[in-house]
Amino acid sequence: MKTIYVDNNATTQVAPEVFEEMTPYFTELYGNPSSMHFFGGQVERKVEEARERVAGLLGARPQEIIFTSCGTESDNAAIMSALRCNPEKRHVVTTRVEHPAVKNVVSHLKREGYRVTELPVDRQGLLSMEEVSRAMTDDTAIVSVMWANNETGVLFPVEEIAAMAKSRDIVFHTDAVQAVGKIPINMADNQIDMMSLSGHKLHAPKGIGVLYVRRGTRFAPFVIGGHQEGGRRGGTENVPYIIGLGKACELAATNFKEKNLRVKSLRDKLEKGLLQSIENSMINGDREQRLPNTSSISFEYVEGESILLKLSDKGICASSGSACTSGSLEPSHVLRAMGVPFTAAHGSIRFSLSSYNTEEEIDYILEVVPPIIEQLREISPFWKEAVIRSCSAS
Ligand code: PLP
Repeated sequence: MKTIYVDNNATTQVAPEVFEEMTPYFTELYGNPSSMHFFGGQVERKVEEARERVAGLLGARPQEIIFTSCGTESDNAAIMSALRCNPEKRHVVTTRVEHPAVKNVVSHLKREGYRVTELPVDRQGLLSMEEVSRAMTDDTAIVSVMWANNETGVLFPVEEIAAMAKSRDIVFHTDAVQAVGKIPINMADNQIDMMSLSGHKLHAPKGIGVLYVRRGTRFAPFVIGGHQEGGRRGGTENVPYIIGLGKACELAATNFKEKNLRVKSLRDKLEKGLLQSIENSMINGDREQRLPNTSSISFEYVEGESILLKLSDKGICASSGSACTSGSLEPSHVLRAMGVPFTAAHGSIRFSLSSYNTEEEIDYILEVVPPIIEQLREISPFWKEAVIRSCSAS
């Protein structure tokens, strides 16, 4: 059976070019970049080249790039640094729809006695800028708002929020794990202080991340140890993965616009086809302010998990809600925050595409999904109830 992988917000395939570039750094060029000898020196140069490549994709300076172990570490490091650098401030602003890498950090902070404002979103998953502004106070140490939502792909106006935070002398951090490589980012044009990204969302391996820290931003290391990363993150560098991430960023920057437009047209074709052929289906999240690759679709009155299993039987890999909440039958915190009705939230599927997906794959999904939904609705008590209700109303 052919695998059709449309779960790229969960993780992505390592690009063959990335793998190829990393390989020698396991068995041949295995030096420690901190070593004085030539063997370490050549590795150090390659790490610095990777830093330049990452900076290149982000419109940043190489010195602003700190390599970490993952997106989660970067999020933790950013928030903890702002609190440690501003010990007199005890308030954090974030949103209700953050990834657990931020959401669970602020829950922990609440237990430690910090005041936390988690901003609500509307039915389209959007923030109110008035509420964002109102939430910031003299006691706010950090505002952390994700750039793109991992479940719906909805984009937040983080550059505008960063400018607002800057005018009040508040540190601004964004979790851009899902945004990098999918929408243009130019750190030279905004006032974001810190930004997280993760390698495995853009065709580099799992277990490598970056925290961007703008020059001049005060920073307290999260992983305390050696002098690596300019004393900002202890631990011998994960050399092959850093090199892989550098290559992945270079690839992401190549034909950026064309690749993402193609992905968007595949996503739009998928959505149009599914909405047309399946009644009582809807897109979750604002249709415009959205990543080009992501589609969260609700098929009312069916269970997302049952759809996923049937899709999996056909070789299609997608997700229900967020990868991190699958296994639990509770609708995701993101869809709940958006007020998606229970019957729709339960039947939500996330398709997330990459530039490796093809038109034929989309055609196959469009062929396979409608009969699956029909079959599941035939055995769904909720669907029967809905049909009876609509018949008696008409
Ligand atoms: N932030 C967002 C928005 C994500 O989607 C993810 C991963 O799903 C993370 C953070 C965590 O990244 P990592 O898996 O590298 O820790």
